[in-house]
Amino acid sequence: MLTDSSSDRCTTNLSLIGPKVEGLRQTFAAGHTKNIEWRIAQLQQVKKLVVEQQEPILLALQKDLGRCDMESWTAELGGVISEVEHTVKHLKKWMKPRKVSTPIVAHPASSYVLPEPLGTVLIIGAWNYPLLLVLGPLIAALSAGNCALIKPSELSPNISALMALQIPKYLDEQAVVVIEGAVNETSELLKHRFDHIIYTGGEVVGKIVMRAAAEYLTPVTLELGGKSPCIVDSNTNLEVTASRIVWSKFMNAGQTCVAPDYVLVEKSFAPRLIDAIKSKIEEFYGASISDSDDYARIVNARHFTRIVKYLEGHNVVYGGEHQAESNYIQPTIVLDPAEGSPLMEQEIFGPILPIISLENIQQAVSFVNKRAKPLSLYLYTKDKAFEKAVLQQTSAGMVGVNDGFMFATNPNLPFGGVGSSGMGAYHGKIGFDNFSHLKTVMKRSFWFDIPLRYPPFTARKFKLLKKLL
Ligand code: NAD
Repeated sequence: MLTDSSSDRCTTNLSLIGPKVEGLRQTFAAGHTKNIEWRIAQLQQVKKLVVEQQEPILLALQKDLGRCDMESWTAELGGVISEVEHTVKHLKKWMKPRKVSTPIVAHPASSYVLPEPLGTVLIIGAWNYPLLLVLGPLIAALSAGNCALIKPSELSPNISALMALQIPKYLDEQAVVVIEGAVNETSELLKHRFDHIIYTGGEVVGKIVMRAAAEYLTPVTLELGGKSPCIVDSNTNLEVTASRIVWSKFMNAGQTCVAPDYVLVEKSFAPRLIDAIKSKIEEFYGASISDSDDYARIVNARHFTRIVKYLEGHNVVYGGEHQAESNYIQPTIVLDPAEGSPLMEQEIFGPILPIISLENIQQAVSFVNKRAKPLSLYLYTKDKAFEKAVLQQTSAGMVGVNDGFMFATNPNLPFGGVGSSGMGAYHGKIGFDNFSHLKTVMKRSFWFDIPLRYPPFTARKFKLLKKLL
């Protein structure tokens, strides 16, 4: 960490918030955000910001998360750029009226779905991928023709400050506003009417957001987290499985919403899997991991203490080293933690990988189903029947078969949770639709007006109508 994360730096005078929200509503009412030219110009500016400000962004991410440039670029900047490119390429098609067939009872008519923007979207970001988790939703909101108010996380203050400085320089200031701040600012924002709120973060605050949104019947997208299981069958490619588990678990020091939280494996196969994971950790980060430039740090002292506490009383079979002065926690493996322990009750969101050994891998399904629906589920197997059984018998926001969260790179796939891991989704067209109202339109002609449905109702009309409907 180059600087301490501190919420003190991210504050906004609360009295400014109301007028800012009102300003955005007036911009939306003026209508120009609906034009495709405006939308595309804004999207291109998002890309320009990321490309031109690449160096300061990478530095800010390094300061906030101790993260190396390559990891930051692939996980955040690259993701924003490709999302803009995909959206710009397809936007014209997404905006078109979507023709659907008309039932015989309504003939002659044309029926279609017309996407229209919702208005002003509030984007509340989280700190773990602080650029992507704000600009990703922003791309979707702008593509749908909305105005947006962004509230970055105060726990990544360098990125928050950078966005507050740069976004007004690149984007239409009347249509996109950044409000820096923490609980006070977010609470104030939530007192105002928005047309959609997208919140990324933990479940507790998710409920606060949803309660506040209910006041205005504002729709919400909640991008939450949870404990994402990783089921490893002994019928797998061990080498590749270990590489992919280590990559997806220890990227950003485990502070990834879609990181595998724990591994389920057969008892007889567990020792081989643990050995393979240990050797991949050292292959990737070297024997002295705290010296590796490629391994990130925990975001702040509070989260450091929370994660270290999870280790108490457990069988640590690898790692466990930590340094409070640098918020460093070594990649750590815990074998068979007790089911009711905090490590197995709460989302870890850090570099501890519990490995749970089962008598047989089929038990993994009931293990997963006893818990809340996770944001993602991972399955490593060559057994197609087992793959089918897991897919059919479990529920998760997203599933990776034989890899970590590579699904997040595909803009054609929705990114979002289910149950307590969230609601709604974005990325690509799904994001466009999420921030649009899909308006029903049926256009009928004036000729051929059969009086069958009009009173006075007769037995003959009733009989005929029953046949038609
Ligand atoms: P955080 O502390 O950055 O909080 C998220 C946002 O909520 C911030 O903008 C913060 O200012 C605001 N906030 C905090 N307390 C508030 C309150 N009392 N009232 C109103 N607003 C408040 O992030 P976090 O909660 O530590 O995030 C970690 C969680 O987010 C994990 O559960 C993780 O899995 C989840 N997450 C999900 C995704 C996803 O895409 N599904 C992505 C990243 C993180």
